[in-house]
Amino acid sequence: MGIPLDQALSIGAYVLKQHLTGRKRYPLVLMLEPLFRCNLACAGCGKIDYPDKILNQRISVADALHSMDECGAPVVVMAGGEPLLHKELPEIVEGALAKGKFVTVCTNALLLEKKIDLYKPHKRFNWSIHLDGDKEMHDKSVCKQGVYDRAVEAIKVAKDKGFRVNINCTLFSDAQPERVAKFLDDVKALGIGGITISPGYAYERAPDQQHFLNRTKTKQIFRDILKRGRGGKAWPFFQSALFLDFLAGNQTYQCTPWGNPTRTVFGWQRPCYLLGEGYAKTFKELMEGTDWDKYGTGNYEKCADCMVHSGFEATAVVDAVKRPWKIAAVTLMGVKTDGPMAPDIPLHNQRPAEFVFSRHVETKLAEIDEAEARAKKPVAAE
Ligand code: SF4
Repeated sequence: MGIPLDQALSIGAYVLKQHLTGRKRYPLVLMLEPLFRCNLACAGCGKIDYPDKILNQRISVADALHSMDECGAPVVVMAGGEPLLHKELPEIVEGALAKGKFVTVCTNALLLEKKIDLYKPHKRFNWSIHLDGDKEMHDKSVCKQGVYDRAVEAIKVAKDKGFRVNINCTLFSDAQPERVAKFLDDVKALGIGGITISPGYAYERAPDQQHFLNRTKTKQIFRDILKRGRGGKAWPFFQSALFLDFLAGNQTYQCTPWGNPTRTVFGWQRPCYLLGEGYAKTFKELMEGTDWDKYGTGNYEKCADCMVHSGFEATAVVDAVKRPWKIAAVTLMGVKTDGPMAPDIPLHNQRPAEFVFSRHVETKLAEIDEAEARAKKPVAAE
């Protein structure tokens, strides 16, 4: 298992407490995107297609730490953009650890060797290095030669310095199960702590719209990968066994978008990490002012093919805490990789997609212009 025992127990206890106190919706993982700017432009990324004025925005240390307090999730994942481009990230990480959070920084690792001494190993901290497969697969995915080699070098450096290092891997429709299984063997041999794996979300702003997976293909690819690794038992996954079981078509799950609430330079993103349909100023407003029933598989066209970990991992974790026998069986026996699949949620009642991106960009640009004008205005003499 790639999840440290203290983290698994701590999150299990947190979930149990929420249930015992009767809380209907609660966060598990705060997805903090302190900036959108990145030093790569990956084919499947739908997160960085903004004008420079927005790419230059940063969440301040004070706002980042306040977001953690507002939200209260036990885990904080810092993503982006490339978080290592944020000059104050070391302070944000330190602040999160001081609050007792489990902290992950996701990075493409290009800056890791240069910046690593600004961070200290900690039992609740890990790096999550982006690797979408072997050298050829990954360099193709990030649209740049040599990135795989630099990431592997950075993994070794970080491990030598005593950090816990995980990898995160996103799969697209051209994934070859045999090759992905060999890649998982290779990263395990590097001594990484855990693996997060997920199908990519079909971002409407991603440059490559041809290689996103649909639900049927996702389930078959994951069955074909996992059967090459004893139903997943061969590899140290840093995610719930029931989430892997879902990816392999053995669970009918609806997503839990509030499980991974997302804070960006726009505010609290509605409804989830993958979809920016609106923004709330506070976490309370996000939780209480979002019409959650409008989203999810079967409810909204943009959700039809989503099986991404940020939406469904929380569903799997809650299921595991409510029905521990289910996760015990999958952990013991491995994920089932043959036989009939669980039924899927019907899509015939889903509402059509709304396209709201430009409106949000215009609003944000107007906000930035206003703030800049205010900053330039001379203060009137009393
Ligand atoms: S299915 Fe859920 S997690 Fe996925 S995009 Fe829709 S609301 Fe977000």
